[in-house]
Amino acid sequence: MAYIISEECISCGACAAECPVSAITEGDGKYVIDENVCVDCGACASVCPVDAPKQE
Ligand code: SF4
Ligand code: SF4
Repeated sequence: MAYIISEECISCGACAAECPVSAITEGDGKYVIDENVCVDCGACASVCPVDAPKQE
């Protein structure tokens, strides 16, 4: 289980600042979560203004 950032992402960077394990990095056109690092805490989803992080 991990969170995945959807195409709704507007690359604001808020999630990356909140992730406790630094699983989120800026990708091509949107931010991306490393599924091997994510601990499924939900912090990214709670701060995202457009609800882009989705639980798989
Ligand atoms: Fe980071 Fe938690 Fe979001 Fe996973 S669910 S990417 S650990 S903030
Ligand atoms: Fe994208 Fe939401 Fe993260 Fe902002 S907080 S970079 S909109 S996923």
